[in-house]
Amino acid sequence: MKRETVIVLDFGGQYNQLIARRVRECNVYCEIYSYKTDIEKIKEINPKGIIFTGGPNSAYLPDSPTYSKEIFELGVPILGICYGSQLMMHLLGGTVEKAPVREYGKIEVTVDNSSRLFTDVSPKTICWMSHNDYISKAAPGFKISAYTPDCPVAAAENEEKGLYAVQFHPEVLHTKEGKKMLSNFVYNVCGCAGDWKMDSFVDESIKAIRAKVGDGKVLCALSGGVDSSVAAVMMAKAIGSQLTCVFVDHGLLRKNEGDEVEAVFGPDGPYDLNFIRVNAQERFYAKLKDVEEPERKRKIIGEEFIRVFEEEAKKIGAVDFLVQGTIYPDVVESGVGGESTVIKSHHNVGGLPDCVDFKEIIEPLRDLFKDEVRKAGLELGIPEYLVYRQPFPGPGLGIRIIGAVTAEKVKMVQDADAIWREEIAKAGLDREIGQYFAALTNMRSVGVMGDERTYDYAIALRAVTTTDFMTAESAEIPWEVIGRTTSRIVNEVKHINRVLYDCTGKPPATIEFE
Ligand code: GLN
Repeated sequence: MKRETVIVLDFGGQYNQLIARRVRECNVYCEIYSYKTDIEKIKEINPKGIIFTGGPNSAYLPDSPTYSKEIFELGVPILGICYGSQLMMHLLGGTVEKAPVREYGKIEVTVDNSSRLFTDVSPKTICWMSHNDYISKAAPGFKISAYTPDCPVAAAENEEKGLYAVQFHPEVLHTKEGKKMLSNFVYNVCGCAGDWKMDSFVDESIKAIRAKVGDGKVLCALSGGVDSSVAAVMMAKAIGSQLTCVFVDHGLLRKNEGDEVEAVFGPDGPYDLNFIRVNAQERFYAKLKDVEEPERKRKIIGEEFIRVFEEEAKKIGAVDFLVQGTIYPDVVESGVGGESTVIKSHHNVGGLPDCVDFKEIIEPLRDLFKDEVRKAGLELGIPEYLVYRQPFPGPGLGIRIIGAVTAEKVKMVQDADAIWREEIAKAGLDREIGQYFAALTNMRSVGVMGDERTYDYAIALRAVTTTDFMTAESAEIPWEVIGRTTSRIVNEVKHINRVLYDCTGKPPATIEFE
C-alpha cells in the first residue's frame, strides 16, 4: 500500500524524531532518512514534502553535512529547520555566518501572515531558538518572512519553488504555534490529503498480516508491556489460533501484573490464541542470588529470559514466523533510518531470533511511534490500563532493587509500589505525571515501632514529569499525597521503616536507579 509520505532528512539534530511525530500528528505519514541517502532513493519514495533538520555543524564549513543542490529542483516542497534552513540558504547563494548575538530559548518572532507557512499564525509569536550561526543574507529569489531583533532572517521563502526556511524549531512545544506551522507546511504547501490514521492503519495491517501468514504458525514473546501486547492483539485479530504467545513471568513484574496479562491473553480473555504462561520466578531468583552488580543482573535476567523462551519454543517446534514488538524509534536508533548516532542496538527482544527455529520475523509496529502504538492499541480494543502502562525496564524490578535480589525484597518493592500508584491515581495525578514508581534502596536503618527498635529497609519513591522525553524533572507531588503514601507503606509493608522521595532530575540522575 502506498501512502503519501513526507520525509525528514536528518542532519544530526536532536529533535528529528520529534519532527516526524509532529508531522504524523497532522495525519501525514513521515519517515526519517540520513542526509547521506542517495537522491535516487528519494525520487523513488516520491515524497509530498521534505524537511531538513537542525544539526550541530556550521553550514559554511567544508566538512559539514550537505546535500546535492539537485534536491531543490525535484519540484518537491522543502522546509529547512535551523541548520537545515542555513544549509538551504548557503547552497542557494545566501550568506550564513557566525551570529553577532546567539539566540537561545523562547524568542518573540515577527512573522508575515501572507506566507502560506504562517497562515493563521499570530503576527508576533513565541518561537524556540537555538543557534550560534545566522542567515545574514537570504539567497536570491527568497523573500524574508520573519525576523527578530537579533535575527534579520528568522524565516525566508521562495514560494514559487516551494522552498521554506525557518531559523527556529517549530517541532518543539516551546514554539507556541509550531504545530500550526508544520500543518501549514504539509497541507498549504505540500498539498497533503492527510491519510495517516490509526483506524485505517490497523485495518490494513490486519489484512496484510493475513495475506502474509496464510495458514502458517506464528510465535510471539509477550512481556505484558505496551508494544508486545499491541503486537500480540493485532496478530490475534488477524490469525487467531495460528498464534501462540509465550509469557515468561520472571517474578520481577509489578504487583499482580502477571495475572493481569493472563486475564487479557489467557483462556478466559477475549482472544482466540494459544497462551502459555511460564512461572519461572524461582529460576530467576536462584540465578540472581547474591548478585549485586547492576549490569550483571541485567545480563542474567536477559539471558535467563531467552533460555526459558527457547525451552518453550522447542516444545512448540518449528514455526513460520516470529513476532517482534519493534517500534519506529528502535528502527531509527539502531541506525537504519536517521543520522543520529546508534544509541542502542536493537533492544526489544534482544537475541531471540537466534535460538528459535523460524523462517521470518514479523514486526507489525515497526512504522509506529509510541503514541501511535497506544492509539492502535485503543483502536484494537485493548483495555486502557494496558495501553497506558508506564515504561517498565526489561529486567523489571530486578533493577529497582538496589543490590542483591531476593523473593522477600521483590514482595516489598511490589507492595510499596502498588500503594504509591494507588495514591497517585486517587489524587488524580496519574495522567499528569510521566512516570512514577518505588525502588528499594539497599540501606537499612534504625526505627521504632510500637516501642520496639527496628532495623529495616528504606524505600525510595520516584515521580518525574517530562516535556520533551530527553530530560525529566522530579514531580512536585502535594505533600499530603506523599504523607499518606508514607504512612500506608510503613504500616502495610513489612520490613520497611523509612520512606524517601527522590528530588533529582534527569540529568544528572537517570530515571531508573540502576
Ligand atoms: N549549528 C547551527 C547553529 O549553531 C545550527 C543549530 C541548530 O540546528 N540547532 O546555528
